Amino acid sequence: MKIVLASSNEHKVKEINEIVAGTGLEFVLPPAGFDPVEDGNTFEENSLIKAREAWKLSKTWTLADDSGLCIDYLEGRPGIYSARYAETPQKRIERVLREMEGAGNRKAHFACAMTLINPDGNVEFAHTGICEGSITTEARGTNGFGYDPIFLVKNSSRTMAELSDDEKNHISHRSVALRAVLDYISEAHLAGNV
Ligand code: IMP
Repeated sequence: MKIVLASSNEHKVKEINEIVAGTGLEFVLPPAGFDPVEDGNTFEENSLIKAREAWKLSKTWTLADDSGLCIDYLEGRPGIYSARYAETPQKRIERVLREMEGAGNRKAHFACAMTLINPDGNVEFAHTGICEGSITTEARGTNGFGYDPIFLVKNSSRTMAELSDDEKNHISHRSVALRAVLDYISEAHLAGNV
């Protein structure tokens, strides 16, 4: 079963295809022209916007995800602004570390809202996955992307960027959300319908 992933991030498609390896599902990038205006107020709203936009181009099974880092001390920021919190990934990390200087409570979580749209263009299933942790005082590790080097995984001594791809795929917000989607696809016997 081929599912369009409403994203232009090849790293994300690769990460998701690794998680679903062996399930018979394959995620592909949307056709050219995918350029959604993510003006929702929540991960869930933005996920729906992306899913609808990609569906308009493909008219087939479409999965969208919208994700980001939410930090308690910063009242949930960067949240839906995670991708645009500063110009580059490095500058985004620096901004967060600066804003967290002196913070007592460093608790944070990654969230990933997924929306599955069917070929008729209706929402078939939606779920938000969470991965809990805290913000370090300096960046550590070179794997992954985005805020991974400053995200200390709960009950671990390593940052997300110090985990192997496999380890990250077991615990990440994206894999939690994706597993719920996969369970739904399997329970609803959708894979056979495509
Ligand atoms: P989007 O879901 O493509 O809108 O991406 C949101 C932003 O959140 C990314 O550009 C990253 O900055 C951040 N983000 C989302 N997932 C992860 C992750 O697994 N690790 C690190 N940063 C992430």
